[in-house]
Amino acid sequence: MKKNKMLYRIVAAVLACAVVALALVTYQSRSSSNAPVAEGAVTATGSAKGMEGDVVVEVTADATTIYSITVKEQNETQGIGSVVCEQLPDTMVAANSYNVDGIAGATVTSDALKEAVKAALTSAGLDASAFAVAQTSDAAVEKTAESLDCDVVIVGAGGAGLTAAAQAAENGAKVIVVEKMPIVGGNSLKATGGMNAADTKYQEALGITDSGVDEFIEDTMNGGHQINDRSLVTVMAEESSDAVDWLDAIGAPLPKVAATGGTTHKYLHEPEDGSAVGYLVEKLNAQAEKLGVQIMLNTEATEILTENGAAVGIKAESKEHNYTIHAKSVILATGGFGANFDLMASFNPALANAVTTNHAGATGDGILMAEAIGADTVDMDQIQLHPTVYQETGLLVSESVRSMGGILVNAEGKRFCNDLATRDAVSNAELEQPGAYAYIIFDQRIVDDLKSCQKYIKNGLTVSADNYEDLAKAMGLEGDAIQNFVDTMDTWNAAVAAGEDKEFGRSNGMDADLSTAPYYAIKIAPGIHHTMGGLKINTDAEVLDTQGNVIPGLYAAGETTGGVHGGNRIGGNAVCDFVVFGRIAGNNASAYAAN
Ligand code: ADP
Repeated sequence: MKKNKMLYRIVAAVLACAVVALALVTYQSRSSSNAPVAEGAVTATGSAKGMEGDVVVEVTADATTIYSITVKEQNETQGIGSVVCEQLPDTMVAANSYNVDGIAGATVTSDALKEAVKAALTSAGLDASAFAVAQTSDAAVEKTAESLDCDVVIVGAGGAGLTAAAQAAENGAKVIVVEKMPIVGGNSLKATGGMNAADTKYQEALGITDSGVDEFIEDTMNGGHQINDRSLVTVMAEESSDAVDWLDAIGAPLPKVAATGGTTHKYLHEPEDGSAVGYLVEKLNAQAEKLGVQIMLNTEATEILTENGAAVGIKAESKEHNYTIHAKSVILATGGFGANFDLMASFNPALANAVTTNHAGATGDGILMAEAIGADTVDMDQIQLHPTVYQETGLLVSESVRSMGGILVNAEGKRFCNDLATRDAVSNAELEQPGAYAYIIFDQRIVDDLKSCQKYIKNGLTVSADNYEDLAKAMGLEGDAIQNFVDTMDTWNAAVAAGEDKEFGRSNGMDADLSTAPYYAIKIAPGIHHTMGGLKINTDAEVLDTQGNVIPGLYAAGETTGGVHGGNRIGGNAVCDFVVFGRIAGNNASAYAAN
């Protein structure tokens, strides 16, 4: 418990700094062994490329012992990579090795830290291979049994879980959240776009009058190929404006409004300063903390407890404890299964070797735990490919780049589809292009307005040039493809000026052309992004069993549920889904607990 609390404080502290996530920070975190530093030990620095630039460490060691590791500089994503820099040096010093298990969900930073320590050892004139094997203590940790009580226990501290926690706590419930990863946020922390919502005060202020609840419902149903559960979609759309107001009230405003892929109108609500919408995690976490929610990190739920068919708690495990958490109601908010390749392949074998944008904790645990007590599922075979994924690292290039005017071209320098059609349509079109890849093209105007783009440049994902011809060459286009690309850009800019895309019928994300040099390109291809299927719920976020009956006391929200997105999720609807249904689950689970 003590460790969980400490980790939680660390995470809360780093999340509180998320506003400066993109600023260069000088950072020092020192881990020292208990062994006194022997005479002759050497201190040296080493560095390696992380997610957000170089990770620099200072290591003191001799031929047999690593005495200390100090992270001198890092600029990793707050709440993800930054947590690695806090935690991994301790593990390395304890194991007397750079070669320890990385933190799942932050493998790039974990690998960078390992490389940096190895480089420092080498630069100290030591044989780094002597530290290649981690020394683990063979003493098996005897787990102690702990029993806890609360009104509402929530499994998963991503967007849905934190929203539900904040809402239930707002209603006066005593809430415990268990999170299996060392950090909160799940896939929600990685969300780059925004939150779709209809009939909001922000739309009204901007004079957007044609993007109401009805249009939102129809766009979502059409995007989902009409297999969505209309009743869930209707509730999501109807409650979306209130959800935006609620976010406002907890200090998480989304005042910018744009279009998103597959929608005919402007619903996408974004942070004012161009931040990724994942910043909501920090705000929700802070709100939950303020209201006294207990968040237990590194704690994995394994089973739902039942009594007379009703959910009455969970079993969970940490490194040191086996927990039995008794609760009056249970909310499952474990996210999707886009990192569980066996489960995905059981529905679609072609996905077994695909790249995924998902964090490592997206393994479908909530679905499996609920199925074990009779819950029903829906649309499990509906797994979304996102069209703009940087294949080397699985990093998703935000849909906002296209919403703000970016386009896609193929290896021949030509556009090949409505770049802002639904994700499945664009992904399928990409797979039909030569080499099954494409380039996303944007300009300095978009970079200035979108922090994600600034990050892509800093991380070396982009090629750039001051004119279209040079950009084509930098992209590696050859022969006719170079002139094709120049023509494509001229044609596109003319289409924006005319307000009509005669070639592919794109109708949104055309507020400005791509004429502000320098110009940028990122090579992308489709990657697994969202599992639309999941637990079957009703509009009260109650989980249904295979007979269609409510499982008393069991609620679910977010990507662990199915039905809202049907056969294809529209960009911006995951956030709307987790805020709206997270609140419904939080409200209903706390009301059930109070009875
Ligand atoms: P959503 O958008 O639906 O909230 P996220 O992916 O953002 O989905 O969050 C789901 C969270 O649930 C992740 O942080 C994930 O690590 C956590 N989680 C998944 N399975 C378990 C489990 N068995 N026990 C505790 N936490 C879990």
